[in-house]
Amino acid sequence: MISQGLVTMSYVAASILFILSLSGLSSQETARQGNYYGMAGMAIAIIATLLSDAVNSYVILILALTIGGFIGTKAALKVEMTQMPELVALMHSLVSMAAVLVGYANFFDNSNELVGIEKTIHEVEIYIGIFIGAVTFSGSIIAFGKLCGKIDGKPLLLPARHFLNLALLIATFWLGSAFLSGVETGGGTFALILMTLIALAFGVHMVMAIGGADMPVVVSMLNSYSGWAAAATGFMLSNDLLIVTGALVGSSGAILSYIMCRAMNRHFLSVIAGGFGSSSGEAASIEGDITEIGIEETALLLGDAKNIMIIPGYGMAVAQAQHTVNEISKLLRAKGKIVRFGIHPVAGRMPGHMNVLLAEAKVPYDIVYEMDEINEDFPNVDVAIVIGANDIVNPSALDDPNSPIAGMPVLECWKSASTIVLKRSMAAGYAGVGNPLFIHENTRMLFGDANDSMQAVLKALGK
Ligand code: NDP
Repeated sequence: MISQGLVTMSYVAASILFILSLSGLSSQETARQGNYYGMAGMAIAIIATLLSDAVNSYVILILALTIGGFIGTKAALKVEMTQMPELVALMHSLVSMAAVLVGYANFFDNSNELVGIEKTIHEVEIYIGIFIGAVTFSGSIIAFGKLCGKIDGKPLLLPARHFLNLALLIATFWLGSAFLSGVETGGGTFALILMTLIALAFGVHMVMAIGGADMPVVVSMLNSYSGWAAAATGFMLSNDLLIVTGALVGSSGAILSYIMCRAMNRHFLSVIAGGFGSSSGEAASIEGDITEIGIEETALLLGDAKNIMIIPGYGMAVAQAQHTVNEISKLLRAKGKIVRFGIHPVAGRMPGHMNVLLAEAKVPYDIVYEMDEINEDFPNVDVAIVIGANDIVNPSALDDPNSPIAGMPVLECWKSASTIVLKRSMAAGYAGVGNPLFIHENTRMLFGDANDSMQAVLKALGK
């Protein structure tokens, strides 16, 4: 056992390391360092907690750590990079489930001797903690289902859904007051359980109402909610570190949601209300002929080009083509060509997905550009090469007000002299909408697995 003073000091040190970690994670150059800070902070937090007098049964603790550690390690080793977003959604559901369980444990625990206002505050903490936890739990499970394709990505739009949400919210407030007055007389359990069921239904409804292409906002929003759920748990357990850590996750998730909303051109409030990303009309159907291109021709086009833009998307992650793409970009740059990468903020299936893949393949950071930095430059580009991307290069987002992705800014690659699109078929992307880019007169389709195609192009370029 260590003294309470030492525990507090360790918690302060861990909090500082978490802040340094977040600041490190904000740029690719310092992300690795940021991860180390985070790991060190978490190690200090766990050890300090283990040695504090809050622990009274090491047997249960070690058992829980072993089971949790085993499942976590197995999942992390098994999961493919493309399944990462689903894993993250599942982790959010666990954090929030913990908040609900801790809330109930606190409620049924009669050992605390709080009285008066302190008791009321404690009960409010329990109520809010369980509410946030339950909304996040069911919302994350639905997000998991949508991300791995087990639940249809189309938005479920119930009639009068906003009134339904409002009614659920009013019921939550009403049950809150019933809970507080019930606790006074030794009850309150029924109100708490009813509120939990309402919160679970609210979480399901909120995420089911989200259209496919808008899922990134939901993922970051649930990330934020899971932070607030952890902070609420911290209040219930009177654990300062959990409050600080939860608030850090909650606020950074909220900032990320805001950035994502801006990237998708959506309003934050309409995200919270749900049902955005759903247009009332029918998206225009795409009719026209496509022009295919072969490996040799692709290599020739790239060989003749001076200014090349590479646009990676989810398909690059599926094909694991990032290393081959890096080899091609090195070869082309060695031949004196300008080669840049254009990254859409929602490319792939999680925030920063493409940046992670390109960093893994050791693509230099100074040739990787955000969409806003290079979108104006496409008229000067000779060849734009789209690697397994679809929604993020869909012109109908700008032209078709009925498209489910209407209003979302996209990489305007069709403005370059020619565009080569690598994909396996004419299938739609995550949002499930047709893409007029494929029938554009300057577009050439290179069908096949992105890595196989890129390997063949690399070989042809090296001849
Ligand atoms: P899309 O899902 O729109 O398109 C990916 C394309 O890659 C598909 O059309 C597919 O076509 C192709 N593809 C898949 N596998 C391969 C392969 N092995 N080789 C070659 N091509 C392949 O991805 P984008 O990156 O363009 O857009 C991301 C979408 O995901 C957006 O709608 C975004 O809102 C959503 N989203 C993003 C999240 C985030 O945080 N970034 C989170 C959740 C959703 P084909 O099958 O014909 O090969």
